[in-house]
Amino acid sequence: KLVVLGSINVDHIIHLKTLPKPGETLMGEEYLLAYGGKGANQAVAAGRFNANVSFLGAVGQDTIGQEILKQFIKDGIDTQWIKMVETKNTGVAMIFVDEQAENVIAIYPGANTEVDEQYIESCRSVLESANYLLMQLEIPLDAIIKAASVAKQNHAKVILNPAPARYLPPALLSNIDIITPNETEAFVLTGVEVIDETSAAAASSVLHEYGIETVLITLGSRGVWQSVNKIGRLVPAFKVKAIDTIAAGDTFNGVFVTELLNDKTPEQAIITAHAAAALTVMRKGAQPAIPWKYEIEQFLNE
Ligand code: ADP
Repeated sequence: KLVVLGSINVDHIIHLKTLPKPGETLMGEEYLLAYGGKGANQAVAAGRFNANVSFLGAVGQDTIGQEILKQFIKDGIDTQWIKMVETKNTGVAMIFVDEQAENVIAIYPGANTEVDEQYIESCRSVLESANYLLMQLEIPLDAIIKAASVAKQNHAKVILNPAPARYLPPALLSNIDIITPNETEAFVLTGVEVIDETSAAAASSVLHEYGIETVLITLGSRGVWQSVNKIGRLVPAFKVKAIDTIAAGDTFNGVFVTELLNDKTPEQAIITAHAAAALTVMRKGAQPAIPWKYEIEQFLNE
């Protein structure tokens, strides 16, 4: 069983020729309202890949929150643990995407801020039944620290996608088995600028020093630097035409952990995750872009 703990957001996405600068107003070419939030995206990627997945997180008691839960069920996610927050809205993200598929994002976390230690305590039984716990950093850190420690005590593997980037206490890092930063996040966590294989290996070493066994630094279109106990290699991504990289990392994480749950080797899991993420970058939005299992299998067979 997989438990994903994280954020739920509604994304308002405007596609523009160029990104607006401070003080500037630009007309967009296209608008999309789509469900997102890193936690939700990763759970959806896992659910559409047929994982046995429970989601821990919160929505507001607004209509959009209810709609998101209905969609989760269609995506194969167990929603029974999700908290309904009366006093706050479901989280919102405002996203701009330019013609190069580059994006800028501002988030109002809303109900996500109510995912606290007390809530994690109320979810103890599902955490205790997990084989894998997958988390990101769009919810309060106290909840993440607590969930990691409950999962570890029950011998689950803990995967952290440290996004958005922030400093993390060593006490949390020591409870992580697998960490999946992108280049920016790797820099914030290690102080090492990842520009090539040598620097990727150096950044990985810093993370291994905290006791983390597996480091996967995602490198966008270049793929991923995989480092297990200080032995590293580059696993290239699939070559596709990216139109919107929103949720690429999320798809990668959700599918990667599901393949581990399916007893695949990390090497096999990375290939499948690359295929899933390649499909995501060819489509717009977060959850609308996340592929189903049959699409990933078709892509790998082409
Ligand atoms: P994040 O979205 O978290 O910044 P990355 O940009 O590093 O993460 O991308 C995560 C994964 O998504 C990559 O390892 C790769 O599998 C896939 N990916 C991202 N961009 C592309 C691209 N342009 N072409 C193919 N795959 C991509």
